[in-house]
Amino acid sequence: MKPLYVPKGKAKEYGDYAVNIYTGCPHRCYYCFAPSVLHRDREEFHSHVEPRPGIVEALKRQLEREGVTGKLIHLCFTCDPYPTGYDTSVTREVIKAIKESGNHVQILTKGDGIRDFDLLDGNDWYGITYDGMPHGVYEPSDRVIVLADAKYAGLKTWVSCEPVIYAGAVLEFLENCHDIIDKIKIGKLNYHPSTINWKDFGHEAEQLCQKLGMDYYIKESLRKEMEK
Ligand code: SF4
Repeated sequence: MKPLYVPKGKAKEYGDYAVNIYTGCPHRCYYCFAPSVLHRDREEFHSHVEPRPGIVEALKRQLEREGVTGKLIHLCFTCDPYPTGYDTSVTREVIKAIKESGNHVQILTKGDGIRDFDLLDGNDWYGITYDGMPHGVYEPSDRVIVLADAKYAGLKTWVSCEPVIYAGAVLEFLENCHDIIDKIKIGKLNYHPSTINWKDFGHEAEQLCQKLGMDYYIKESLRKEMEK
């Protein structure tokens, strides 16, 4: 197994390297693309969540063999590094392996990663997805509180507003929370119906980010809508 890989396609807009730690994810986002990407049954993906067997040792071996160092490694694309209700000590071991090899992490979660903040420093990014919806036991406001904790702990903070489900909630979030966000990525809902006018939303979000002086990135598929 080679846990460390270079993302392709839309995922490439998120990072140069990535590791997927778990076999599934309990958060049950209706728009989750992971079961399709992994050719897995959707119900099975959401209900059977465990660390990929041997992932920590395999990652350590790969990092050493390939001499990867000084890179930012994204956790995770096809799962959540903090699956709510599950033991996440393997995530902790993965972070340790990445940091001990001289690399840094870029976490993206809809759970709560505060338990591992002691492993992170100002070269690491802690990120949440903000789509305005609850996932598992965590409300959007819970995730924002942990993001603020990350900022106060001296970590870099980022938010993935992709996919946007409630446009108004996302714009309000930007307005209210921009001071705890170091970077934001905004993207549209793909492959599912939406009543959002993406062209108007994209321009409104971009103007707001500029007004607030935010470091922002509009994902390609949303940018294309804005240019129509
Ligand atoms: S948190 Fe991510 S991996 Fe988990 S169900 Fe939602 S979209 Fe899928």
